[in-house]
Amino acid sequence: MNQRAVIIGAGIGGLATAIRLRIMGLDVMVFEKNAFPGGKLSDFTLGAYHFDRGPSLFTQPDNVLELFKLAGKNPDDYIQIEKLEEANRYFFEDGTVVHAYTKASRFDAELHLKAGEPKGRVLQYLQEASHVYQHVGTVFLDYPLHKIKTWLHQRILKALSVVRLKHLLKSVDEVNVAAFQSEKTRQIFNRFATYNGSNPYVAPGMLTMIPHLEHNEGAFYPQGGMISITKALFALAKDLGVTFHFNEGVDEIVKAYSKVKGVKTSQRYQEAEWVVSNMDVYFTYQKLLKDSLKAKAIVQQERSTSAIIFYWGIKGTFPQLDLHNIFFSHNYQQEFNQLFTEKVLPTDPTIYINITSKKNADHAPAGAENWFVMVNAPATDTINWDLVIPALRMRVLDKISRMLKVDLSKLVEQEYIWHPGGIEQDTASYLGSLYGSSSNHRMAAFFRHANDNKQYNNLFFCGGTVHPGGGIPLCLKSARLVALLAKEQLAL
Ligand SMILES: Cc1cc2nc3c(=O)[nH]c(=O)nc-3n(C[C@H](O)[C@H](O)[C@H](O)COP(=O)(O)OP(=O)(O)OC[C@H]3O[C@@H](n4cnc5c(N)ncnc54)[C@H](O)[C@@H]3O)c2cc1C
Repeated sequence: MNQRAVIIGAGIGGLATAIRLRIMGLDVMVFEKNAFPGGKLSDFTLGAYHFDRGPSLFTQPDNVLELFKLAGKNPDDYIQIEKLEEANRYFFEDGTVVHAYTKASRFDAELHLKAGEPKGRVLQYLQEASHVYQHVGTVFLDYPLHKIKTWLHQRILKALSVVRLKHLLKSVDEVNVAAFQSEKTRQIFNRFATYNGSNPYVAPGMLTMIPHLEHNEGAFYPQGGMISITKALFALAKDLGVTFHFNEGVDEIVKAYSKVKGVKTSQRYQEAEWVVSNMDVYFTYQKLLKDSLKAKAIVQQERSTSAIIFYWGIKGTFPQLDLHNIFFSHNYQQEFNQLFTEKVLPTDPTIYINITSKKNADHAPAGAENWFVMVNAPATDTINWDLVIPALRMRVLDKISRMLKVDLSKLVEQEYIWHPGGIEQDTASYLGSLYGSSSNHRMAAFFRHANDNKQYNNLFFCGGTVHPGGGIPLCLKSARLVALLAKEQLAL
């Protein structure tokens, strides 16, 4: 009989891990407390409008496609992915609009034209980002950091030769101030620190490799919206014989000496040779392993940002907007001070608007658009969200109305609001943080929890709160690392 693996949670990390362990020949059962798969990567409808609930920006699709290839399936039978010409459209208060083309040379020309950035600077910066990503990024993202053999490989010598002092000792902003002449270019490149919920004025310069993903490798859109990723992986897992148990949360991981024995769910005791938690690692220790000391140690690391999202059905169309749009704050540094130091909502927030009806017309009624309007929020439980959101909503409506020269409040015909408390409740993410712990600290990658457990050698962790971190590509990489570590255990 095959050995059994239980996966706790059907988030993107849990789905990918289920697929990989099944391909390894294990019997895989997934227990999910919600009625649907995907966790943050799920969807919903509001009247005639369709919304992706969480992630909207998609990079490194190979992490998805690889799973189909491993399973011997044709990815085209499950998902269609389009490369975007423009990753983001940036709007500044002075009326400047910058099109962030995914082709590096075109983006360089655009920033020269719109922001006065000397020609070639953006291109040079992106070439360096690519170099650092290839040699250093991959070490940090594709290997278990807590294994000695990761550090004894010759790739480490190459990585060390690529790292510069600025990557370690300067902040993202300091690197960008030195690299670029234009304030607008700096702000655009500072924003990439938010891709893992960090503060560009504090996070290490190493994160300046992130733009490589969008502007060298490209930004992508799965036909049908981000939910298509969840649907494709869910279908693949089921085709491979993974079994799913929805509305069945896990309450306890059962331990005995140096092993875990299985899980207690809301409905059963399930024995398993392998247990993988896709639940936030803090809650896994706190609630399932009842180890509050370890849980406390985990939350010593600063959380990444959370968000407030206004899902608006907008009666009107805006040809000047694209799939991904950013309305920048006037004072970016103040915004991050408010988010991370003061832990309050920004007075002048940067606003991100994602409109999937630009790509899939059926996501909104004719003559209307589905706006996913997101502002960063501190991951905290010290704010009464219901009390502060009405004022934030006014600020957001005023800012977009001012910048688009329209009275937006008259066009909102459907509305749903998700806030950090709701994100925690719906996805069991501590304080509603989107990406687990932040990368503000130079050593953050080393402090992040590993994909395995030192005490119980058949217990593993995947998803955005563990190594290598949050965001879809990294959650998918965490699944790869779990499979790698489990394989090593099986070979012992
Ligand atoms: C608003 C928002 C915007 C984002 N934007 C982007 C973006 O543009 N690009 C990007 O790459 N990333 C983005 N992210 C981050 C990305 O969504 C996450 O990093 C990723 O989806 C997390 O996946 P995960 O595998 O960690 O699981 P999660 O999505 O956190 O899911 C965990 C699952 O476990 C289940 N669960 C928890 N506890 C239990 C239990 N005890 N028993 C059973 N089941 C349990 C939950 O119900 C949930 O389904 C965004 C996130 C949010 C919320």
